[in-house]
Amino acid sequence: MSLEEKLVREMRKRGKKVTPQRRFIFQALEKESDHHPTAEEILHTVRQTLPDVSLTTVYNTLHNLVEMELLREVDLGEGMTRFDTNTDIHHHLLCKRCGKLVDIHRQFRNVFLPPEDAHGFIITSHQVIFEGICLDCQMKAGMLKQ
Ligand SMILES: [Zn+2]
Ligand SMILES: [Zn+2]
Repeated sequence: MSLEEKLVREMRKRGKKVTPQRRFIFQALEKESDHHPTAEEILHTVRQTLPDVSLTTVYNTLHNLVEMELLREVDLGEGMTRFDTNTDIHHHLLCKRCGKLVDIHRQFRNVFLPPEDAHGFIITSHQVIFEGICLDCQMKAGMLKQ
């Protein structure tokens, strides 16, 4: 089942209307999911087919999906929110040059926050972000030997 079909089904299950605009937003999410797009990137993709769609519509749809836990917000301190269609617990690799964000599915069991640093929180999960320079950027910068 495609991501679009899954989202349509989940929205209908919750009694939400699925407009054609929303379908295009779901398609854009599916197309761009590998790099965890921002709302603006989704808008750009949707506008190639529907030039009249507004950023508000895109935001509302994305936030609806987040509320329904069908989409996750990822904030990496870059001054923008990205959207992650992978709602399973996972970690990320971030390229500091081009912003590429790649999923890592591996458990880091030895990440531990001592109680004195937990500020009274009950810790339920953690996310690990590895930062670096991706292969494409290494290539462009001539950092790779051919
Ligand atoms: Zn890069
Ligand atoms: Zn992810």
